[in-house]
Amino acid sequence: MNMANSNKFCTSISCMDGRIQLPIIHLLKEKFNVDYVDTITEPGVDKLFSNTNKMQEIKSKVLISVNVHGSKLIMISGHHDCAGNPVSKKEHITQIKNAISVIQSWKMPVKVNGAWINEDFELEIMEI
Ligand SMILES: [Zn+2]
Repeated sequence: MNMANSNKFCTSISCMDGRIQLPIIHLLKEKFNVDYVDTITEPGVDKLFSNTNKMQEIKSKVLISVNVHGSKLIMISGHHDCAGNPVSKKEHITQIKNAISVIQSWKMPVKVNGAWINEDFELEIMEI
């Protein structure tokens, strides 16, 4: 039995911001009962799903997590006070929803969630 089969992985696509990494990992481990969180980061990642080249880069990383580690859950997040994507909360939410649609269009056998990380650096899961 190899690592990928005996442990449960999920995938986080998030900003690189150091304030959000532990909150994301803790929530995913506690709420979704996974052992490990594969983490794909770019500054202001939620806005990048309107950029075809960046989107392909992200997809190639996600595929490793899904195909090799067997991740069954992807969470795309955006956060308060984002230096890489300094837009309103409303705009972040729109971008996160768009990112969810894009990831779902990749037709992978995974559940896709979104999250907004608020001014207290707590995750608000976006039900979709
Ligand atoms: Zn950020």
